Amino acid sequence: MPAPGGASSSVLAGTVLCGGCGEPLVHREAGAAAGVYACPSGCRPPVPAAELDRRVGRAVLERMWTADTLARMAAAQELLDRLGYGLHHRVPVSLKHALYQWEHEFDDETRRALVQDAVIVIVLFPAARLPAAGPDSADSADSDGELFLGWRRVRAAATAVRKE
Ligand SMILES: [Zn+2]
Repeated sequence: MPAPGGASSSVLAGTVLCGGCGEPLVHREAGAAAGVYACPSGCRPPVPAAELDRRVGRAVLERMWTADTLARMAAAQELLDRLGYGLHHRVPVSLKHALYQWEHEFDDETRRALVQDAVIVIVLFPAARLPAAGPDSADSADSDGELFLGWRRVRAAATAVRKE
């Protein structure tokens, strides 16, 4: 499993609730890796932070960067290029590109902001207690439980840049 660039940390701290007891998970350092998210009451074993960050990041980006949004934002990027605006992060050209940015280019602050903009709350349920919330989270990294994501308004990301 590839480690994300730099030490990831508290991207999700306070946003993810423990599905066992409802307490917000806290971030703890653990060795050289990105640490873990742990239930403060200790009702469940901690989960690797990098893995959970990545799972949530993917879900957020998949929702954010639909084909339609990608196409419209490509036009925006083109305009910005012509006008000479250099953004810190370029508009992704594909979902794959967006995932790459998340893993390798974004810092924790950026990741955290993206998650906060997209979800109200996330609940991490113990494995096999709830049917998968996402459409294709059949991915095998599920040993750490099922994620429920409470989304903010649909298309918030798209309308935010739309100014009407
Ligand atoms: Zn708990």
